[in-house]
Amino acid sequence: MSARVLDGKAVSQTVRNEVKGEVDRFVSKHGRRPGLEVILVGENAASVIYTRNKEKAANEVGIRGVLHTLPETTSESDVLALLDRLNQDDAVDGILVQLPLPKHINEARVLESINPKKDVDGFHAINAGLLLSGRPNLVPCTPLGCMRLIQESGVDLTGAHAVVVGRSNIVGKPVAQLLLAKHATVTMAHSKTRDLPGLCRSADVLVAAVGRAELVRGEWVKPFAVVIDVGINRIQDGDKSRVVGDVAYAEAAEVAGAITPVPGGVGPMTIAYLLHNTVRAATLRSG
Ligand code: NAD
Repeated sequence: MSARVLDGKAVSQTVRNEVKGEVDRFVSKHGRRPGLEVILVGENAASVIYTRNKEKAANEVGIRGVLHTLPETTSESDVLALLDRLNQDDAVDGILVQLPLPKHINEARVLESINPKKDVDGFHAINAGLLLSGRPNLVPCTPLGCMRLIQESGVDLTGAHAVVVGRSNIVGKPVAQLLLAKHATVTMAHSKTRDLPGLCRSADVLVAAVGRAELVRGEWVKPFAVVIDVGINRIQDGDKSRVVGDVAYAEAAEVAGAITPVPGGVGPMTIAYLLHNTVRAATLRSG
């Protein structure tokens, strides 16, 4: 048996097209483009690529994407001053601070200083709390992308057992809340969970957001389960390096009903939902 591949590249293009339509409607109604400001502090190689891609993707759908590149030595108070200015600027709908931040900057303080109405990453405690209380406002992008791919799989989530491996604030916890809201029975697993393979084998929907290369083996997967692999892990393969997920793809694809590849699964969905969140923030603020 071979699982159906949930093609994140193709689905993310559909989401981008949907967003482009919403941007066009917003522009005709309000006479301005939605604005997304991306802040990068320092020169982390992956972050430089991610932030450039976010700016480019925004402009491609008609969002006014602006990238602020600040030196590694920027003080926390200078970052907070920039956030204060962007929070008050009416032309700015979305603000994203790329993580990780340099060590001398308090990440929590910075994230909590973003106006929750402009918090397109959905990491602010107010947005996390709203999601938890069943009144989602701006929801983290990767979990939204996971849910869209689960929807594409066609699985009926009502009463299904969903196991989420990983309990981070940016992926594991919000994805579990979204699954719960769709009436799945949700189990959250983590590094201290007993018999992780056995638990995973009971999952109709298995979401792996761990950051451990190919942790989830084929024999951990229930036949016909939907497997969503959030992991991005760079491994050495001879003298080359390549990116793999948290799931041993070839093994799992033999057992699962549907599975996301890495790369080309959840990854492309994240940027698409950042654009979605920016238009959502703009519309919620401007009507
Ligand atoms: P994190 O390090 O914040 O959290 C990892 C979680 O995994 C923790 O809750 C921990 O308890 C759990 N864990 C660690 N080892 C485990 C083990 N052996 N067994 C079971 N659970 C274990 O990571 P994160 O930010 O949630 O990211 C997870 C992965 O997803 C990373 O590979 C990251 O690069 C990737 N990621 C991808 C995207 C995307 O757009 N595709 C977005 C965010 C994160």
